[in-house]
Amino acid sequence: MTRKAFKYRLYPTQPQRNDLERTLALCRHLYNAALQERREAYQKAGKTVGFYEQKRWLPEIRTELPEYKGIHSQVLQNVIERVDKAFQGFFRRVRAGQKAGYPRFKGRERYDSFTFPQARQTGVKLQEGGKRVLIYGIGSVKVKLHRPLEGRLKAATVKREGEHWYLVFTCEVEPRPLPSNDQAIGIDLGTNPHFLVTSEGGMVEAPRYYQKTQAKLARAQHSLSRRKRGSSRRKQAQRQVAKLHRKIANQRKDFHHKIARRLVNEYGTIVHEDLNILGLARTRLAKGVLDAGWGRFLQILAYKAEEAGRRVIKVDPKYTSQDCPVCGHRERKPLWVREFRCSGCGGHFHRDVAAAINILAKARTEPSGMGTAWAVP
Ligand SMILES: [Zn+2]
Repeated sequence: MTRKAFKYRLYPTQPQRNDLERTLALCRHLYNAALQERREAYQKAGKTVGFYEQKRWLPEIRTELPEYKGIHSQVLQNVIERVDKAFQGFFRRVRAGQKAGYPRFKGRERYDSFTFPQARQTGVKLQEGGKRVLIYGIGSVKVKLHRPLEGRLKAATVKREGEHWYLVFTCEVEPRPLPSNDQAIGIDLGTNPHFLVTSEGGMVEAPRYYQKTQAKLARAQHSLSRRKRGSSRRKQAQRQVAKLHRKIANQRKDFHHKIARRLVNEYGTIVHEDLNILGLARTRLAKGVLDAGWGRFLQILAYKAEEAGRRVIKVDPKYTSQDCPVCGHRERKPLWVREFRCSGCGGHFHRDVAAAINILAKARTEPSGMGTAWAVP
């Protein structure tokens, strides 16, 4: 079973927006109060107050503070759980000897969601064939299900992003392996303007709309830098910048999903450079500036491949951009040289295609690629 998230835009009315904001604020106050209690117990007595202990307050809170009555008890439990998780993470890092920041109080901007952990049974209900959703404590809110829900519903989270509200359903879905496929491909995480280049010569550019939004962001950031601190126009410019950041993140995510889906559908084995090692390969360092999104793309790719029963192999990026894919002659070339001309055999290739071919070939010869049941054709 894998978990999958389905995110839908909500269209609350103004009174509903107020209720959503109020719910967030109350959850945040509870979060901070629970955090405070744990801090004090820890600092004063070296004691830890646990999840179950704190959960026991909740009925009391709901009787004494009537404003909490309008919030589903499970949403409140989830708030306590979040505090618990923050502490667990903190203690885990301490035990591991890592630098660990003590869990912090959350300001308005840092607390932007509340969760119904058992949405299948209670708290959230789709209505009118998915045109509206009944949210406990808020009412019937208009929603847009732009793609169908799949699997078994587990939890629902109401989330604020800037001025927009979203509903995120978490569902358990059966992995659906694709029919087996013995095609293998190498991908080179490309240099501008290519997002990636394949060993078969395919080149994928970042979509135009994405580049357009990035240009807009650059302009918005420039105009922000000229506004006076504390002025209302500066605030407006800040909101605009934040909005464009979110838009870019969404566009990038959609693009990543699309490319990963295509690769996973068409190839049984996908080979790419190990980014952890890539960071150390100095000749390729210049690529790092171009798009920090590769790490996330590769995560999406790995996840989709697993779901579909495909294989993803990481190889050491060393020399992938210096070796001739035909004769193996090794020659360092400056990054700006787009065409690979081999002084050994005279062959010439697009530089990134040559790299992608080398990456694919490495899957055969490196330990990470060997000892497995498949062979690169
Ligand atoms: Zn050659």
